[in-house]
Amino acid sequence: MPRPQTAHQAWSVLESGNSNFVAGTPAHPRQDADARVAIANKQKPFAALFGCSDSRLAAEMIFDVGLGDLFVVRNAGQVIAETILGSLEYAVEVLEVPLILVLGHDECGAIRSTMDAANGNLELQGDFIHNLVQRIMPTVKRSLDAGETSIDEITDRHVRDTIDELMERSKVISQAVKDGKLAVVGANYKLELGEIHVIVTHGLI
Ligand SMILES: [Zn+2]
Repeated sequence: MPRPQTAHQAWSVLESGNSNFVAGTPAHPRQDADARVAIANKQKPFAALFGCSDSRLAAEMIFDVGLGDLFVVRNAGQVIAETILGSLEYAVEVLEVPLILVLGHDECGAIRSTMDAANGNLELQGDFIHNLVQRIMPTVKRSLDAGETSIDEITDRHVRDTIDELMERSKVISQAVKDGKLAVVGANYKLELGEIHVIVTHGLI
């Protein structure tokens, strides 16, 4: 496969790979020893993925892609942090990916924990877990204020808010979108179906 050069091409590859995965007929491309050797000197991924660490959101598997295809950044609940912004800026400025996909999923433990915390019921002890929860809390509060009480609604809003923060804080990324060199897509991964549901797009022509 020639490397996709545009956001549209990159998105098409991800969509068709996900269709293979959903249908249970993955091609497992670029996962053999030849592919490994071919890219050993230089990576040229065609998209960056920023998603939740959830063990079921296995990036290359759910898009049926291979080695060297995706620059993957993940943490619990896909929460923006300076290191995340740096990683995504690297993907755009150095690796010149034409697409960033921000991927949440249904029944996210990080979102659920933040909803529990909003109700005063968070029982987890870890200081740094509380740090994650605090970063998601403004979204949960905005959702609740807007009358959105389901985890699906809150997860969608969290993906939108995450992208807004990404574009607001990173000039490299927002400028690349303005220049037509980069698209940012936000989506939700459905654990049982294996499907990707698009929530928001910026610059995807
Ligand atoms: Zn999650």
